[in-house]
Amino acid sequence: MTWLPTDCHAHSTHSDGSMSVAEVVARGAALGVRVTVSDHISRDAPTTVSSVAAVEAYLDDLEQYDVLRGGEFCWHDALWRELPAEIVRRFTHRVGSLHSIRLKNGSYFRVFSQSLPAELTPDVYIEAHVASLETLAREMPVDILAHPTLMPPPMRTIHPHDLWTEAHEERSVQALLAGGQAFEISARYPPHERLVRRAADAGVRLSLGSDGHARDQVANIVAPLALARAAGVADEALYEPARHGSRTGAFAA
Ligand SMILES: [Zn+2]
Ligand SMILES: [Zn+2]
Repeated sequence: MTWLPTDCHAHSTHSDGSMSVAEVVARGAALGVRVTVSDHISRDAPTTVSSVAAVEAYLDDLEQYDVLRGGEFCWHDALWRELPAEIVRRFTHRVGSLHSIRLKNGSYFRVFSQSLPAELTPDVYIEAHVASLETLAREMPVDILAHPTLMPPPMRTIHPHDLWTEAHEERSVQALLAGGQAFEISARYPPHERLVRRAADAGVRLSLGSDGHARDQVANIVAPLALARAAGVADEALYEPARHGSRTGAFAA
């Protein structure tokens, strides 16, 4: 059987995507990519899937299609903690996200904030980001950490090597290795190559994610695949739930 790339992270109209589930499936088929619908599942994100009952209805719908059934859970929101195992098992895989990070004083900061308080210097920010990532990796039983390098808009102009110290990169990689989450190479928020190589070299599994919301984005994982290959990762080693297993229990014997 020929290998097909898997897009482990894409959105539909169940949350803030612009395409229906059927359109996402068709787009994947057109591009020769195995696709996932992984809509936001959170009480603090733009989504219809914001309660346990809504999660069941969402899965009922996805089960009508030939598509991987994912969900993107906000670490800072409690909904993922409330799902019973029999619902979790219906997901082929789950994605966890740092859409808010925890600051040293215990408050949460929204990563999509357009402005940063003065005390959140790049050094302070990256430390809080990595500390939050470490906590997510310890406590969240998801298969993939989405967009590990997602930064607030004002910080996206800083060169990643000026923001990330190698020590911060190493801590992130070791946290994922211990926690068992794959490192997503996101098309939407591309990670820098030094960190991708570090993750691959340490033995962290990599996954491809379009994080697509619109037609020209969903299933478009050309750039993430090129980055994985440049880091020396074999195609067959890229995360695919049925091949590599899932912490949801979906593929247990
Ligand atoms: Zn996200
Ligand atoms: Zn997403």
